[in-house]
Amino acid sequence: MTDFKRLFYQLANIGNTKAGRNCLAYSSQEDTAHHCFIRQLNALGIPEQIDVWGNTYGTFYPKGTTKQTAVVAIGSHLDSVTNGGVYDGVLGVAAGVAVLQSIIQLDKLLTRPLRIIAWRGEESSRFKISCIGSKGAAGKLSIQETKQFHDSQRNSLYQSVIKRSGPAPSPVERGNCHTLLEMHIEQGPILSHHRQTVSHGRPPIGVVTQRIAGAIRLQIHCSALPIKVIAELILAVHRIALGLDHQQRPFRATFTPIDKPPNIGRDQTLLRCRNEAQAIAAQKQVQSTIQRNGLELILSGPHTFHTGSQPMHMRDGIDQIVAAAQFITSLPDASDIQWPQFMINDSCHLQLDIRGGDSEILNTGLNEIQTTGNQILKHYNSHAHWQIISRTEPAQTTPEIANLLIESANQLSIPVVKMASGAGHDVQVPSVSNRGLVFVASEAGGVSHHNSELTHMADARAGLSVLEQAVYQLLRQ
Ligand SMILES: [Zn+2]
Repeated sequence: MTDFKRLFYQLANIGNTKAGRNCLAYSSQEDTAHHCFIRQLNALGIPEQIDVWGNTYGTFYPKGTTKQTAVVAIGSHLDSVTNGGVYDGVLGVAAGVAVLQSIIQLDKLLTRPLRIIAWRGEESSRFKISCIGSKGAAGKLSIQETKQFHDSQRNSLYQSVIKRSGPAPSPVERGNCHTLLEMHIEQGPILSHHRQTVSHGRPPIGVVTQRIAGAIRLQIHCSALPIKVIAELILAVHRIALGLDHQQRPFRATFTPIDKPPNIGRDQTLLRCRNEAQAIAAQKQVQSTIQRNGLELILSGPHTFHTGSQPMHMRDGIDQIVAAAQFITSLPDASDIQWPQFMINDSCHLQLDIRGGDSEILNTGLNEIQTTGNQILKHYNSHAHWQIISRTEPAQTTPEIANLLIESANQLSIPVVKMASGAGHDVQVPSVSNRGLVFVASEAGGVSHHNSELTHMADARAGLSVLEQAVYQLLRQ
């Protein structure tokens, strides 16, 4: 067994603070993490390569292979959200280095090169665009296009990228990458639940056999508006999303906080409504779903109405606060709470994230939301400017690769759960012929993007063993 734990903590400790890991896209902390990754590669005798986007990688060429032999690649990211967890991304890069470490010793048996990639800027918290490095390397984002993205300090993504540009070609050049793999923390509770209820404490792994969701991020810029119009808009989007969403073709739409004013969530009435909804959820203990006017409101305690510094999926999104307010003001005994009447006098900016299992449902959802939204705004003599900030297409994993991962787990007697991925990942971006995605369990209710994020080493090692076994098979083909 390799010294995975050491490799992992060398990377994970960079940018880590009491409040969480702060290693934002194209920051000096991310640079430090990439330098650490380079030292890990060099320690194994592998030279580093850096492409135009600052993506860092190293390739092991077994004897008998050439620079022209298509590679098997393992890649993930080293950046984090603000106050994020240490596992997201870092687990996958450390697993890659650990696989490399054990594979190098098998040199003579191998017929394909192995490449380990640390992608740049997967998280969107700094520049509001995700998977920057992998999109760039895949030719799905151009250097020119980066000129439109800035962080909250007005630093441009363009400058951030070119400062870190290296001379190496893309690590996933067309025709040069046989298979792209990623191991990642699940970002959901399924595997942790499986361990408790099905696999009797043995760490299971997840193999993504279905789609990896795609996403569109929009900003909606409106003129002065009463808060109730925004509420109507948000509720309409919820209804559309509920109408479209079903198991085979999942669809979700969420308004997330935006760092431009106004912060609607600060209104006292709305906050009071949010708190009361939270109290109701806490009283009921168990998750309850309440249907009202076609709006499905899920009260599940801290997961829906959480306060303080929340993980991404627990945040007080404007939609959650408005939904809570709508619910509370409609209760028969809530006559003392009036729906707030205030105007947002300046301009109003909303951020909307749409996720979908396939491109068609993403397009349908986007159209319906824009049409309905414009109708609502027109009714109140207002209008909005809809701006698509970024788009990541959904992707499928390759059935043969998923089967190989499942077989590898079976050989090692590691329980496997077949899964879909509701979140986006670097592995879905490049147009490679084969791709595979392995999940390892996330504790603390599947929390991600928060410092309470946790993967036990035993779970990480289960994922690593499966990855190692599958890569070994692929390198001998
Ligand atoms: Zn990630």
